[in-house]
Amino acid sequence: MGKSKVNLYSIPKSTKQEERIGSALKLLGLDGMCSSFNKLADRMFKQHKTFYDFLESLLEKELFYKEENRQQRWIQQARFPRLKTLIDFDFSFQPKLNKRMIHEFASCRFIDKVENVIFLGPPGVGKTHLSIALGLEAIQKGYEVRFLTLSRLIESVEKTDNDAQSRHRLLGALLRPRLLILDEMDLHDTTITSSTFLFKLLQDRYEKGSIIFTSNKAFTEWGKLFDNKTRAGAIVDRILHHAITIPIEGESYRLKGKQRNSYTGFTKAA
Ligand code: ADP
Ligand code: MG
Repeated sequence: MGKSKVNLYSIPKSTKQEERIGSALKLLGLDGMCSSFNKLADRMFKQHKTFYDFLESLLEKELFYKEENRQQRWIQQARFPRLKTLIDFDFSFQPKLNKRMIHEFASCRFIDKVENVIFLGPPGVGKTHLSIALGLEAIQKGYEVRFLTLSRLIESVEKTDNDAQSRHRLLGALLRPRLLILDEMDLHDTTITSSTFLFKLLQDRYEKGSIIFTSNKAFTEWGKLFDNKTRAGAIVDRILHHAITIPIEGESYRLKGKQRNSYTGFTKAA
C-alpha cells in the first residue's frame, strides 16, 4: 500500500498572511526563504527597494541556505576524522614546504586534471592536516570527497567477509567521489582479499578520479602491500604516472614547544 495521506499543494487556511506565506514556503521545501522573508520584506520596504530586488534577495537566501546544507552533508559523508583548514596551518613551521603549491592544490585544478597528490614525510609534520584541508576546499568547490585510512580500508574489506555483493558496494562507494583521500599508506598486513581489493580500487580510479595519499614510507615499500611483485609494480606505476609528490621533511608539530625531559624520558610543555 502507498502513502495513505499526502500534504496537498495548497495554501493552508490561516487568517494571518504571514503564516500563510510561511506555511506555503515550508510546503515547497523553501526553508531558507521561510526563515527570512519576514525581516527581509521589512528591510526592503524601508529601503524603498523594488519587488524584483526583494525577490532576488529572497532567492539568494534560499540558495545560500541550500548550499550551506549541501556542504555540511558532504562533510559528514566524507568522514574526516577531524576538521582542519588551510587557515589553521602554520606554514612558518614548515618553511621548506612549497606554500604556493598547496594553494594551487586548493584551487582543485588537480582534480579536474585527475592528478594524484602524495604527501610524504615522518609523523606529525601535517600530512593528514593538509589532506583534510584540501578535502574541505574540494567540497566547497562542489567535488564529492571521501577520506579513509589504509587500515580502515583493509578493515572494511575484511568485514565484507567474502561477500561479493558488499565488497562491490564498498568499491562503488570509493570509486564515486571525485577525490579520495587515502591516509597512512604505510605498511599493513594485507590478506589476498584486501590486497586484491586495493589493487582493483587503484586500477579503477586510474585516470578517472584523483587520490591524495599520505605516507611515511617510500614508494618502494608501498609495493609490499600487494601479494605479487608484478601487480605491485603495475599499481605503483599508475599511482605515480599523474602524481605530484610533496615531501615534508620538517619537525613534528606535535612536539612543538616541548622539550625532552632527560630524566624521565617523557616530553613536556616548555
Ligand atoms: P601527520 O599526518 O604528518 O602525522 P598531522 O597532520 O596529524 O601529522 O599533524 C599532527 C597534529 O599537528 C595535528 O593536530 C595537526 O593539526 C597539527 N599540525 C601539524 N602541522 C601543523 C602546522 N604546520 N600548523 C598547524 N598545525 C599543524
Ligand atoms: Mg597522519
